[in-house]
Amino acid sequence: MKNLIQQLIDEQLQDWELAKSNYAALENIQTKELDLNGHNYKVQFNPTRIASSAAKVDKQSLQARKCFLCSSNLPPQQKGIPFMDKYQILLNPFPIFPKHLTIPNINHTDQLIGGGFEDMLNLAEVIDDYVIFYNGPKCGASAPDHAHFQAGSKGFLPLEKDFNSYAKEPVVELANASLSKLTDEHRSILVIESTQKQAIINLFKTVYDAMEVNEGEAEPMMNLLAWKDKCKWIVCIIIRAKHRPDCFQAEGEKNLLVSPASVDMGGVIITPLEKDFEKITKENIADILKEVSLSAKQCNDLIHRIKLRV
Ligand SMILES: [Zn+2]
Repeated sequence: MKNLIQQLIDEQLQDWELAKSNYAALENIQTKELDLNGHNYKVQFNPTRIASSAAKVDKQSLQARKCFLCSSNLPPQQKGIPFMDKYQILLNPFPIFPKHLTIPNINHTDQLIGGGFEDMLNLAEVIDDYVIFYNGPKCGASAPDHAHFQAGSKGFLPLEKDFNSYAKEPVVELANASLSKLTDEHRSILVIESTQKQAIINLFKTVYDAMEVNEGEAEPMMNLLAWKDKCKWIVCIIIRAKHRPDCFQAEGEKNLLVSPASVDMGGVIITPLEKDFEKITKENIADILKEVSLSAKQCNDLIHRIKLRV
């Protein structure tokens, strides 16, 4: 599968002008690095991400547009590789990572993690040179009406690359899987680690069931990152409280077009507009992460509820 994917990438970069020019542009893209409490963050000025960052994800807007993840609407140049008879692996033509894949379900079905979590672990196992990520329907997914994952080459996203440098506080152990809380001032991140797939699935379900669901929404707000490190899976559950920060809507000087998804929460802040790339500070980033994350108090309450269930 890894070879097939590399072949797909090579072919697409040769035959598909849009992908070719966007990956070439990525090589010279402007980035700046910032330090937040000893952790490295990157800001990436990526104009090709404007459609995703500014995507209107209300029901009406979604119904009014053609779904760009349905196979019948893919550009004729875009090719895919089937995965598990349920997904298609595609090259993302608007990359953030040096290798960036989009993995939509073959059916137009809502973006929900409930039925797809195990698939995510399977992806992490089969393409273990990538980190797999999931954006909840109100947590950065630009197609919340079409179930999909994304994958990015390892060694790029700070949360994955520097994972071992983070301190963690143990929460619970459940049948060969451990749950811990990442020590982080701005984000609420729970981490599941195990070498046994079923143990991870069971512990994820325990966490999921203890999380709160906002009225009118179908699942708790979250971004997920999953990858395999040798024989162990690592799953980061980034718990969200808010879709977009206030600065997204703000007028004038205070406006910053930043719409946090897994990648931003994992340490690469995407600014599609140059004015934002230039002015964003580490204080802005700290504020944005804190604003869209579950508060420390609510996270501790959640941990309390999880412990009661184990
Ligand atoms: Zn669709």
